[in-house]
Amino acid sequence: MRVLLWKVCSEALPTLASLRRRRSDIDSECTGCGVETETIRHVLIECHFARQFWALSQMPWQCLSDWQSSAADWVFQVLQRLDGTDAVCFCGGIWKIWQDRCCRVMEGKTQSPAAAWHELTAILDGYQAARRSTRFRHTVGSTAG
Ligand SMILES: [Zn+2]
Repeated sequence: MRVLLWKVCSEALPTLASLRRRRSDIDSECTGCGVETETIRHVLIECHFARQFWALSQMPWQCLSDWQSSAADWVFQVLQRLDGTDAVCFCGGIWKIWQDRCCRVMEGKTQSPAAAWHELTAILDGYQAARRSTRFRHTVGSTAG
């Protein structure tokens, strides 16, 4: 996930628009909507898949969609305004949206934004449960000993 965020921030994600700059035979049309050119910004916030996905997160859209200049600036601004849980959700969301986009482009598999959101929350819940149980074990261990 950290590598992906770094790629987003340095605008190094291999979007179809960036691949087309190197190979003219590549179609840069977004596979999500089939209308717009697939840029990082389009995939992560503008495409209907991303919009529906972020709507399910219930995070403030005004904050999420506030892309002023660069991708790095966007990530930084959003993370500054979100609290801990939402910040984790935001990073997870970027990862999940990109993962789904890759499944679409490379394997032709499509998934609904709701299914993608459900998968991400299951992963994040599992992660939090694991953290809680570790903490619990610590507490039990220290009171018993
Ligand atoms: Zn699109």
